[in-house]
Amino acid sequence: MPTPSNPLKAVRGTRDLLPPDTALWNRVESIARSVFSRYGFGEIRTPIFEDTSLFARGVGEETDIVSKEMYSWEDGERLDKEKLRDWWFRKHDEQLGSWEEFEGTFDYTVEIQDRPYENELLAFANQATPALTATLAAFEAPLYPPRADVDAWLAQDEPRDSSQLNDRSRHLKPVKRLVVPTGIPNKTEEWLKDDLVVEYAFGNFTKSSQSLTLRPENTAGVVRAYIEHNLGDSGQLQKLFYIGPQFRRERPQRGRYRQFWQIGAEVLGPVTSGSESPLRDAEVLEMLATLLDELGIKGWKLELNSVGSATDRPRYVAALREALAPIKHQLCEDNQRRAETNPLRVLDSKDPADQALIDALPRIADFLDDPSRDHFAQVLAALDACGVPYTVNPRLVRGLDYYTRTTFEFTVPSSGDPASGLGTQNALLGGGRYDGLSEMLGGPRAPGIGFAIGEDRLILTLQAQSGAPHLDSEMWEKKLDAYIAPLGAERNAAALALARELRRAGLTVEVGDGSFRLKKSFEAADRVARHIVILGEDEVATGILTVKTFATGEQTKIAQADLAQALRT
Ligand code: AMP
Repeated sequence: MPTPSNPLKAVRGTRDLLPPDTALWNRVESIARSVFSRYGFGEIRTPIFEDTSLFARGVGEETDIVSKEMYSWEDGERLDKEKLRDWWFRKHDEQLGSWEEFEGTFDYTVEIQDRPYENELLAFANQATPALTATLAAFEAPLYPPRADVDAWLAQDEPRDSSQLNDRSRHLKPVKRLVVPTGIPNKTEEWLKDDLVVEYAFGNFTKSSQSLTLRPENTAGVVRAYIEHNLGDSGQLQKLFYIGPQFRRERPQRGRYRQFWQIGAEVLGPVTSGSESPLRDAEVLEMLATLLDELGIKGWKLELNSVGSATDRPRYVAALREALAPIKHQLCEDNQRRAETNPLRVLDSKDPADQALIDALPRIADFLDDPSRDHFAQVLAALDACGVPYTVNPRLVRGLDYYTRTTFEFTVPSSGDPASGLGTQNALLGGGRYDGLSEMLGGPRAPGIGFAIGEDRLILTLQAQSGAPHLDSEMWEKKLDAYIAPLGAERNAAALALARELRRAGLTVEVGDGSFRLKKSFEAADRVARHIVILGEDEVATGILTVKTFATGEQTKIAQADLAQALRT
């Protein structure tokens, strides 16, 4: 039980973002939006939860994210209407003939009412043809309540589903029966008074529920949307960016949260749109360098690597397995597991004791086929031409299964260096190419490249690297244009009306309260605003207002018509 001494708190690993910090978040997002728009990106917003299989297939079962960090749940048991309907028709097969014959002759519905597991089967004839009338006559007697009962049911003051009945022509022959699956709680008694036919269905009529997951990353969702909306059909390269929360059950620490924000972008499309070109990789990296520079991030470092094509990777993984086999037992427990399940991840390991062994493992660069090698060389050449500095890191393979060819990370100076603000979490953003992801999700071929910036880490870095000229706190704590001080509660309404007028004219305005003494209003106003506008009885009567400018200490009388203009200065 929460008590005043033990109130409810935000869940571990989540946090509230409050003003004035949120002003910095907004500023960062607006700079990102501005950079993205200059490079031709449009915004995409995908749902925060998706079918679990999207991530299992897209991100990879063996990744840390999918194997242990996802927030997944079974989205409740559902009644399987189809199953119940089939059961019903099978049961009444003799009277009804086969379902195929029945179909098209009747409209039917098996409806679930608001209360769980109370199901109604309504059968309506949709045409009163002689053949149909004969068919109905054949099975009406044993199956349906006598016509008189139906009429009585319809004549009730508030017949249920009357709208549905009225919609249909007068030839309709409504039949109402309640099909109640046994073994699950139900409240049939309430229904019995309606002279319904109640039938108990035996068996399991629930559908195993859908497994849903809070998105741990956004690329899989973007590619799913690309496939679902046939974005490739235009033949154009799709350039999409997103800004939003992601969820991973990681051990929280500074710079690592369970709900964190990512600013990301994806460039993908059919091969004919140029989506496979190394130019795309270089353009994305150059855009990131521009974005970090415009944000004022100092000392960023770009590391990149090529993890090869879908055919290079298995050859490399086989060689890694072979090299790991004799030394595996010398590695830490985590790496021993990775050596079995996902040997590439061993390269990601930060365990200090394992570093020497890992450095001696085979390198992916020696396993690239000619097209991959050439692709990577062209990416590097384009970066050189743009003057974007980088380091090739042969161990950078990244934690997600979908990457092919170029992978990259931008870091800021690492732990121990106060300029980072990130502690040990020094990766600001990561990304790479994912040429086979669309096919893995059942879509058309759509090579692509993308990245995700950890927005929380970006903000921590900016805050630690204070002094970035356009991000200084003055800007966030900018004073309001005016503070309106009503004298006496009777003036409150007039104060709000005046504030409305000024705000509509584009000014930033705070309204005090008539119960404040003038001294208190002055103090409050001086803290938040450049001017105080005093609204007493005289001012309301004459429309001439008293305005004090704090910077100069000057106090003047200004006609209400001229007020907005005067307060702007
Ligand atoms: P990933 O999707 O794992 O490639 O991560 C991309 C970026 O998101 C990383 O470089 C981090 O900046 C950020 N990130 C990933 N996980 C977290 C987390 N748990 N908390 C905060 N930021 C994160």
